[in-house]
Amino acid sequence: MTVVRDVPKQLFIGGGWRDAESGRTLSVDNPATGEELCRVADASPADGQRAVDAAVAAQAAWAATAPRTRSEILRRAYDLITARTEDLALLMTLEMGKPLAEARAEVAYGAEFFRWFSEEAVRIDGGLMTAPDGKNRLLVTRQPVGPCLLITPWNFPLAMGTRKIGPALAAGCTIVLKPAPQTPLTSLALAAILTEAGLPDGVLNIITTTDAAAVVEPLLRGGQIRKLSFTGSTGVGRILLAQCADTVIRTSMELGGNAPLIVFDDADLDTAVEGTMVAKMRNMGESCCAANRIFVHTSIADEFASRLATRMAALTVGDGTQPTTDVGPLIDLAGRSKAHDLVRDAVKRGATVLTGGQLPDGPGCFYPPTVLTGIAPESQIIDTEIFGPVAAIRTFDTEDEVIAAANDTEFGLASYLFTQNLDRALRVAERLESGMIGLNTGLVSNPAAPFGGIKQSGLGREGGTVGIDEFLEYKYIAVPVG
Ligand code: ADP
Repeated sequence: MTVVRDVPKQLFIGGGWRDAESGRTLSVDNPATGEELCRVADASPADGQRAVDAAVAAQAAWAATAPRTRSEILRRAYDLITARTEDLALLMTLEMGKPLAEARAEVAYGAEFFRWFSEEAVRIDGGLMTAPDGKNRLLVTRQPVGPCLLITPWNFPLAMGTRKIGPALAAGCTIVLKPAPQTPLTSLALAAILTEAGLPDGVLNIITTTDAAAVVEPLLRGGQIRKLSFTGSTGVGRILLAQCADTVIRTSMELGGNAPLIVFDDADLDTAVEGTMVAKMRNMGESCCAANRIFVHTSIADEFASRLATRMAALTVGDGTQPTTDVGPLIDLAGRSKAHDLVRDAVKRGATVLTGGQLPDGPGCFYPPTVLTGIAPESQIIDTEIFGPVAAIRTFDTEDEVIAAANDTEFGLASYLFTQNLDRALRVAERLESGMIGLNTGLVSNPAAPFGGIKQSGLGREGGTVGIDEFLEYKYIAVPVG
């Protein structure tokens, strides 16, 4: 495949491509076939330290660039990504599995973070105020936090990178990016694009590694990194927060979710089914915002479940490069086993399978769209992030009951709510414990909106007008006026 051949396979450090010091490489596999696509450099802790040194060396000059310069680099990168939509989409489909149509949508979504933050780069504001005593003037300015470590997951290989790189560059921070080992190619292609867009050497550095724990910890403890922005599981997030505590590193954490999706009896059923398809099936369900627990009012539950099952059963599962494919493979066999084990556990405890639920034969990490009803409360699927195309439906009778059930989780990322009653919509939205709510929609992600969670789903927000704040420090200058 030319798109794979054309991507650099080395570490990107100080503006140059170089092999891992050990000469080691890691395998990038196609989850649709199980075959190796290519190999890329597998960094050691020493390589990681070189990347940090390069980011530190580039920091002062990058912070001193004109905001307009930073803005225009991001804007050029946006244009280049957009112009190369087809290549980048195919690359993502090959290394991650999502159907091409979804990969194209991710290119548009991911690129938009660069356009959005190119516009924010020139709007970093400060202030001047008179202190209450009338004498002092309080001058407030904002500065980049410094060299950042960005750690991204495999589910949105482009957008998870641009969502962090965009605001970091706009703010004037230099970067070490560590993408997930399953999907390094998109990040490496992005580095080449940013270089072409005029990003100076050392401002962005990329280390790909199979040994994240050993590579990352010394970097966080080393005292040079000032900011960690992480997207991944809550378990790893906790470990990283502990590592950041010793050197008091600022953190942004986008962690796991367990999104409730609630369909009230006054919902428009077409809208609710359509919204559930999006909230459940976008990215094969491999999204931290995916609807994980579906609550439907008892009076409409049978009708809703049967319509959803019909829609799910009609989806075509296959290799994402085929135009007819609606649902690609899961990321790996472990991800598939996890989803299947959750289904088997639910069935063992009495759930009914309306469609799907069988492991297919043959190569690849495919799993069929599955709808379950009658989920017993002790089922593991209720408390576990499914990360697969499995819809687990439960019923409820009252508003209070469903809100209590929806909030009965340590997570608080996204929730979805379907009702045509505005009063109820606002009342329930205010009581749901989550950072984001889709009201009559199954899609909350938007580069112009503050994405993030509460409770153990994370700290901080990405995107929106607040996304850049995560990469800026306030500095206040006291000025007595005589
Ligand atoms: P997932 O289960 O979706 O792969 P993870 O939280 O394991 O989510 O991974 C998200 C990112 O965090 C990946 O880039 C991964 O390599 C990285 N990662 C995993 N474990 C650690 C660790 N102990 N320290 C630093 N990064 C890690």
